[in-house]
Amino acid sequence: MKKIFLLSFVSFCSVFCFAQSAQKPIFYSVSFPNVVHHEAEITMTIPQAPYKEFRVIMSRSSAGRYATHEFGKNVYNVIATDVSGVPVPLKQIEGDVYLVGNDHPETVVIHYTLFGNWTDGTYASIDPSHAHLNMPAAFMWVPGEESRPVKFEFNDLDKYGWKVATQLKHEGDNIYSAPNLQYMMDSPTELSAFKETSWNVVNTDGKTEKINLTVHSDDAQPVIDNFGKMVQKMVLEEKAVFGELPSYDFGEYTFLDDVYPTTSGDGMEHRNSTCIVQPIAKVEGNEVRLLGTFAHEYFHSWNVKRIRPKSLEPFNFQHANMSGELWFAEGFTQYYGELLLVRSGFHTPEEYTRTLGGLVNSVLNTPGAAKYTPVRSSDYSVFADAGVSIDPTNENNIFTSYYVYGGATALALDLRLRSEFNLTLDDYMRTVWLDRGKIMKPYTIPDLQADLAKVTKNPKFAADFFNRYIYGVEKNNYADLLAKAGLILRKAQPGKAWAGSLTGGGRRGRSGQARTEGEGIPILTSTIIGSPVYKAGLDAGDVILKADGKPVKDEQEFDAIVAVKNIGDKITVNYKNRTGEHETTITLEENPYLEIVTYEKAGKELTKDQQDFRGKWLGTRVQ
Ligand SMILES: [Zn+2]
Repeated sequence: MKKIFLLSFVSFCSVFCFAQSAQKPIFYSVSFPNVVHHEAEITMTIPQAPYKEFRVIMSRSSAGRYATHEFGKNVYNVIATDVSGVPVPLKQIEGDVYLVGNDHPETVVIHYTLFGNWTDGTYASIDPSHAHLNMPAAFMWVPGEESRPVKFEFNDLDKYGWKVATQLKHEGDNIYSAPNLQYMMDSPTELSAFKETSWNVVNTDGKTEKINLTVHSDDAQPVIDNFGKMVQKMVLEEKAVFGELPSYDFGEYTFLDDVYPTTSGDGMEHRNSTCIVQPIAKVEGNEVRLLGTFAHEYFHSWNVKRIRPKSLEPFNFQHANMSGELWFAEGFTQYYGELLLVRSGFHTPEEYTRTLGGLVNSVLNTPGAAKYTPVRSSDYSVFADAGVSIDPTNENNIFTSYYVYGGATALALDLRLRSEFNLTLDDYMRTVWLDRGKIMKPYTIPDLQADLAKVTKNPKFAADFFNRYIYGVEKNNYADLLAKAGLILRKAQPGKAWAGSLTGGGRRGRSGQARTEGEGIPILTSTIIGSPVYKAGLDAGDVILKADGKPVKDEQEFDAIVAVKNIGDKITVNYKNRTGEHETTITLEENPYLEIVTYEKAGKELTKDQQDFRGKWLGTRVQ
């Protein structure tokens, strides 16, 4: 038996090893002859191309951005050749799909031009200062060949004085690699004259993890060094939550920060890196403000990149994966990103009350959270997360972001674990980390419930919490929970008359909405269900001409009229729309919006228990 086993092992190995070495990498050579006009030239060499006809495509989706995008629109001059440049027939069969016919050589070379002029975590940007590449927005690929290794050659670096920042494996000189397509797509690459600072963290297992901060900005090196020390402090606070850092591939994690006023603010998590883009002049003077995105994205290196929802596995680059778990993957990350800045001393508890107020209002005062569960809110991400459309949606009334909804749920669970079980949300996150993330076993919502049952040793509590607050729309008692930490939840404007928002607070309306020539107040987005203006029958398309008999031309004038009224007063409103001029009556109500204040600020005395509770919750966990 032993001998046979040995023989079969040898034959298995020979097949396996042959298959490995036979898989020649798909090779991308990237050049920048026309950066002034935002173009890159990309040559993709596919050795051992699929035997018959095959497709070469651009992605329509990017990991961490939950809506679809048409990356194919920025790719043109697409041609196919053999290795000596002789044309091979290629046909574009869809916007982002090109077909190489049956009769092609063994090695097919695809050439194309990439245009990119949008700096964020999702798209590509090419200009004389940098090439900022989110991989799905930049690189074509071959469906069916996802498991093949990939190599990159970045040219023209000396010409522009650029260096390379990426989680791709550095093979030497300007050559980088990824073991497969999924890893490659997850590895944003910044080519620029960035500044850099690095440090080592000795992990709990004794191994060293190297953390790099690269910043493409107009800051001097000492500013980056100092900012690196702040990021370092935040990293250790996050490590304390989980008890260890993840074991990063190739032993490194890199923050790719890009700071410039005309960029588009964003943070995009990846397995061993994060792309953070901040639309301000410089890091200097804005350090604490910038740290929030760092804290959030870094938390993702555990929660979502390793503690991975099954619904995102494998990531589908041709269509957005819908994930009902984003209240956990994003919402719990949102909660921790903000909390950890308090624990690491960058925000005071007083400042944190404003963040908490935002979370609690989002769950207690939005129609989205009143009607839909956190799971439903998560599903809607395929439309909400920078999804591009021309016509408006009814987002104001049907969607409460899973970031804040999930964040508020995390807050309630943390306070309940602390007050009912003498546990913390950190204990729960550590359990999920050990049971799922560390061993890379993707989870479902029932798995999260099972882990809550495990950590509390109370399956009944876990089932109740999930049924009421995750699968249901019930709300926790935030006032009672916050009081344990000496915080008061109260009306932000008690006794003040309120008509509701005319702008809905959501995305601005686009085509098909009211436009006026400087007359009245056009309502541009859906008014919010339950608000006095909604009840009065006003909505997008209406233009308010007069309130309480006085002509109004902007929302400030309208608000000034409301401000001197009392709750219960009625205001006559004259408005027009496509069916002519109309009159309605708004009955003013008390503003439902809540605020959170410390006992100290409210002039109440903090008890010893409250002080201890708050200290354990908001104090540093770094030993
Ligand atoms: Zn996130």
